[in-house]
Amino acid sequence: MSRIALLSEEVASQVAAGEVVERPASVVKELVENSLDAGAGRVEVRIARGGASLVRVVDDGCGMDRDDALLCLERHATSKIRSGADLATVATLGFRGEALPSIASVSRFTLSTREHDAISGTEIVVAGGRIREVRDGGEAPGTSIEVRSLFYNLPARRKFLRAENTEAGHVEHQLHLQAIGHPGTGFSFIRDGHLVFQLPPAPALRDRIRDLHGAGFLESLIPVGDGPPGPVTVSGLIGKPGVSRASRVQQIVFVNGRAIENPAINHALREGYHTALMKGQFPVTFLFLEMDPALVDVNVHPAKREVRFRDPSLVREAVTDAVRCAIENARGSWNEAFRPGPPAISPAPASAPPEAYPETPALIPEREQRVLRGDWSSFSPAPAGPAASAAGYESVGPAAPAAGYESVGPAAPAAGYENAPDSAGGFRILGVLGKLYVLMENASGLVLVDQHAAHERILFEELRRRMEQQGVPGQHLLLPPTIAVTPKDREWLLGNLGTLQRMGIGLEEFGPSTFKLDTLPEYLMGGDPAQTVRDIIDELRQAGSGASRVRMGEDVIATTVCRHAVKAHDTLREPELVKLIEDLLACELPYCCPHGRPTMIQISHAELEKKFGRRV
Ligand code: ADP
Ligand code: MG
Repeated sequence: MSRIALLSEEVASQVAAGEVVERPASVVKELVENSLDAGAGRVEVRIARGGASLVRVVDDGCGMDRDDALLCLERHATSKIRSGADLATVATLGFRGEALPSIASVSRFTLSTREHDAISGTEIVVAGGRIREVRDGGEAPGTSIEVRSLFYNLPARRKFLRAENTEAGHVEHQLHLQAIGHPGTGFSFIRDGHLVFQLPPAPALRDRIRDLHGAGFLESLIPVGDGPPGPVTVSGLIGKPGVSRASRVQQIVFVNGRAIENPAINHALREGYHTALMKGQFPVTFLFLEMDPALVDVNVHPAKREVRFRDPSLVREAVTDAVRCAIENARGSWNEAFRPGPPAISPAPASAPPEAYPETPALIPEREQRVLRGDWSSFSPAPAGPAASAAGYESVGPAAPAAGYESVGPAAPAAGYENAPDSAGGFRILGVLGKLYVLMENASGLVLVDQHAAHERILFEELRRRMEQQGVPGQHLLLPPTIAVTPKDREWLLGNLGTLQRMGIGLEEFGPSTFKLDTLPEYLMGGDPAQTVRDIIDELRQAGSGASRVRMGEDVIATTVCRHAVKAHDTLREPELVKLIEDLLACELPYCCPHGRPTMIQISHAELEKKFGRRV
């Protein structure tokens, strides 16, 4: 007797359903995609008990005639492609012709549909994949699909469903994706009889995001796009530097209108943000990539979540460049808030002038001051003259010389903050909170600056600039320590001696498993030099071993170095604070430290007024 038999249609559909229908959210995804492909202007999604008991999707799309309504329940029945060649140019969300029969095979399923110009519609009732009834229906034009008792005939699958809240959460996330991907379509979501959201058709992505997440959230985003036209265009909105999430939930990327996950894009985003993203955090993105469908294979995953790019590096570069540009451009709006001129609201009456700043002598340690100041003259070997002064901070900002560190000293009068120049840099320092947060006023309102984060950013950019130019000068150690290394460390070190040298760390091979440490940069002096260098090597290696190693470069190194360089809890005096802020504002990326933490928090006049109940 032969052992092989063809599976019945019913069983084959159930097998296919295993891939396409994982949970209620997958049903919602497939049905909503069909509605969008049908040109719906509005889609209503209703679920009950997390979707396990009911998912209903109603649209006002093109609808189907009776023949199509019957045919769409057959496996591999689709109106979206006709030949294998069409696969290379799919512009619709669906194309597999599998979703409806799969869903119908694992639920109690009712399809009601009517074309716009038809006198009556069709209603088909299916249970476990078998058509039970076909009748005329008088519903509104469009399509309504009702899926009840999901997996009722697959108890093993049903057991895998999570708590109602979890499943409903997945459904809602799925709907967010679709709503963001298609702002022109109106969406409403009803859960257990309660309206969760109702989104009118929106003219643009910004409006859709405002409707979904509120105006405050929209303010935390910056626009991407307007780059040179190329094979891949990138547009949308992304989080400002310092805005991030602990997971990828809001890292949303569409390729030709389809929400997808792709490791190359994940890396590209990280790379684009670079130091503007906190370690272990994920960017917030609503990014839209458009490209010739022939450049992307969507037929990789049954649920079409993944795609494969013909040329991943092309896509990676486009995304990285777009994000980097967006972050650079955003700097302009920040600077707006610091433009010189009178603040929007006149400062509070000086009824009680702030106390003179306490005369604490502890400042930034002398050597860090020099780094900050760009004064490397005392370092040996001395850096090349003209280049050094070009990169020095003296050249930064119009007010720099006046507020430079030179004026600081025991003899400097303990100036009250009200004397601070409020027009030079477009800010006025009000005081320091807890020895750490600088409070200031700018055109937009109140600004809090994390003194240490600011310091780190300034040092980081300074060191990076130096490494790109003549390299950071190293100081010769009187007693060069030796560092024992493992064979693997040795190999890594030999390959990176040049880079380390540019950081001012001079190492020389000294026997088969030993290196001699000849020089250290000034900012790393103090402590145990051998241990410091060993720590740095470990960190660099870690940074370099990640799969995303696109830029095992000087910035990573400077980041690492900075972490070692800035530790002190310093009390700064007013002119130094002014200088610190001016230097910070002159940075390329002033609003976050090299580890992506924010350096400044702006609290706008509007927010303050709201807090004090002056406006609602
Ligand atoms: P696919 O979307 O991959 O073509 P489906 O099984 O999801 O496969 O749907 C089969 C066909 O049914 C679609 O190609 C489409 O022609 C039709 N269809 C499904 N849903 C709708 C809808 N909401 N409105 C109009 N036609 C629909
Ligand atoms: Mg489909």
